Amino acid sequence: MGARGPRSDNDRLWIGYLSVGALVMLAYYLVPTEGAGAGVRITLYCLDSASAAVMVIFGLVRHRPRPRLPWLLLALSQVVYAAADATFYISHYALGVLDYPGAADPLYVAHYPLVVAGLMLLIRRRTPGRDLPGVLDAAVIGVGAAMLSWLFLIAPNARLDAPVVVKAFSLAYPVLDLLMLTVALRLILGGGRRPASFYLLTFNMLAFVAADTMYVSQQLDGTYVTGNYLDAIWLAGNLALGAAALHPTMARLTDPSPVRDASIGPARIAALCGAALIAPVTLYIQSARGDLRDIPVIALACALLFGLTIARLAGLVSDQRRLAITDALTGLHTRRFFEAQLPIEVARARRAGGSLAVFIVDVDHFKSINDHYGHPAGDQALIEIAARLRGAARGGDVLARYGGEEFALLVPEASLSELATIAERLRLRVASSPVALSEDTWIAVTVSVGAACFPLHGDSPNELVATADRALYVAKARGRDRVVIGEAAATSTATVTDHTAMIDYLSHVADEVDALLHAQEHSLAISRWVHTLVTALGQDEATARNAELAGRLHDIGKIVIPEAVLTKPTALTEDEWRLVRQHPEYGYRLARMVPGFGVVADIIRQHHERYDGNGYPSRLVGNGIRVEARVLAICDSWAAMLVDRPYQPALSVDAAAEQLRQGRGTQFDPDVVDLFLDLLARGQVGDLKRPTELTPEQQP
Ligand code: GH3
Ligand code: MG
Ligand code: MG
Repeated sequence: MGARGPRSDNDRLWIGYLSVGALVMLAYYLVPTEGAGAGVRITLYCLDSASAAVMVIFGLVRHRPRPRLPWLLLALSQVVYAAADATFYISHYALGVLDYPGAADPLYVAHYPLVVAGLMLLIRRRTPGRDLPGVLDAAVIGVGAAMLSWLFLIAPNARLDAPVVVKAFSLAYPVLDLLMLTVALRLILGGGRRPASFYLLTFNMLAFVAADTMYVSQQLDGTYVTGNYLDAIWLAGNLALGAAALHPTMARLTDPSPVRDASIGPARIAALCGAALIAPVTLYIQSARGDLRDIPVIALACALLFGLTIARLAGLVSDQRRLAITDALTGLHTRRFFEAQLPIEVARARRAGGSLAVFIVDVDHFKSINDHYGHPAGDQALIEIAARLRGAARGGDVLARYGGEEFALLVPEASLSELATIAERLRLRVASSPVALSEDTWIAVTVSVGAACFPLHGDSPNELVATADRALYVAKARGRDRVVIGEAAATSTATVTDHTAMIDYLSHVADEVDALLHAQEHSLAISRWVHTLVTALGQDEATARNAELAGRLHDIGKIVIPEAVLTKPTALTEDEWRLVRQHPEYGYRLARMVPGFGVVADIIRQHHERYDGNGYPSRLVGNGIRVEARVLAICDSWAAMLVDRPYQPALSVDAAAEQLRQGRGTQFDPDVVDLFLDLLARGQVGDLKRPTELTPEQQP
């Protein structure tokens, strides 16, 4: 074997210490208690507790933990403890002084504050942030233990007819043990690293508390015998402390670690439930025995446990809410939160006759950052950009991560005149200095900003976002790194047919996609059926016309997905699926470019939602999905089932109808399925033509 580093030497040291310690314990119980044996036993016992003190000091010097103070206090506490043991045995056996309290008791008592202070400092270093859940959990178990301690140790001792000094010490032990237990629980239930040294240290604490508690209760009922099995627990506790300090991981106990996200494992739940049940169960046992005592104490424990549980619950709920409205990468709000706030702010502005502004910020050429420096560097850039945007926003603004590298800002009470100033501030703040991707990589990053304000550029949340988005698109087209203020959206009196050139172009895109994917007509047929169904559902002609357009354009988002993925004959990879699943969102973006197409875009975005809430992208449920989208989903599936697909041959009409029936209430709206099948039977929907059967003006 080659040279071994100091760390592996240390490894053997703590094992060696525990082994020798175990032999000493064995010898302790083998040596006879009478005659000369008594002296040997006392020596072995004191050797054990003194050795722990020496080992803690040795470990402190050897492993140099930073900071030193927590371990220094623990070392000091063990020195005092060992001195107490020595004093006790010398006065007891050598001097024959049997007084209680004796000279050893002040020393025993003095060791507790040192342990508690050492542990508290350790805990403070381990979890620098707020660790409220850890504190509350420790408090719940601590209250349960405190109640038991009061009922069975403290109150009985307090009731004893004894001199004040005796009483004071008899009470001090259980109270101080309780204090030590609470701090130990705080250590166990809090965050932070848990190397071997951690477990040895917690074993030491729990062993001492357990042995002390049994000692006090045996003293109370007069069953304590010097040298019984409790000595083994104290001896083992001492050894654990020495080994904890010898273990090379001791220096890492003080490593700060961020507070983990609230997660409650089964063991913790069981411990908390057990602690919460202590008070009522005790009450029940007392009443069953007809010996109800200390009712105010039990009631107080119940109240505290109840209050702590509620506080814990409130913390969990607020954590969940925070997670739901906070983007994990950047810490900004989520798009969901933005979209929930926007209508509220628009309504407020409308009521007050005020104004508000919406900005959409998109990072320029972000893809190339990913391509050149890797995805993690891209993430780093997003974090920094988000921080800069936050710096440019004000207190009441809502700043959200709107998409991958896109951000949205909502500024209440911002008027048209302020629009350009705010947008420029956003742009300049991001461009102000290079962004650090790593310690030695810095790159210049710019953003383009589209802005719109209520009421000038739009009367509804959808219109505002659409206008800002169009403005952003213009900013990109004009060369990026610039701000464009939206132009007034088409007023609500304008009809969608005013934008025939744009619609023609998007229809062309739809045909491109269809030609790639379907041998027979697809979106044209779907648009006819959707119109028929939506009309049959009693909707007005404008709604039916929008639904028809959405049917025509529902797959345009697929144009940005690589052809190889769209037409892949084998199963898609996870990444490919993720891409394909984005097509409703892409389609929504494209359609939203057309002024007045807010509704059409919404239907497109929702056409892969499922009635049972398992669809995408938003997992909308039931009537939360627009009725036009529920209709479109059925028509889309129908058209797909009737033709050969890479992974499945065409179904017969009957088989396809059966599929729709099976999807009632899960994938599809049951009422719309029934309507579709009804109209199918009457020959009004469901027919597919080959492209050659189409009239010239229907041809792509
Ligand atoms: P443009 O100037 O036209 O906006 O160019 P662009 O490259 O920024 O535009 P595009 O929207 O095509 O690219 C956005 C890229 O952002 C694509 C995607 O891989 C990347 N992206 C999206 N979300 C994340 C993310 O969370 N982390 C990283 N690293 N990249 C992301
Ligand atoms: Mg971009
Ligand atoms: Mg983008």
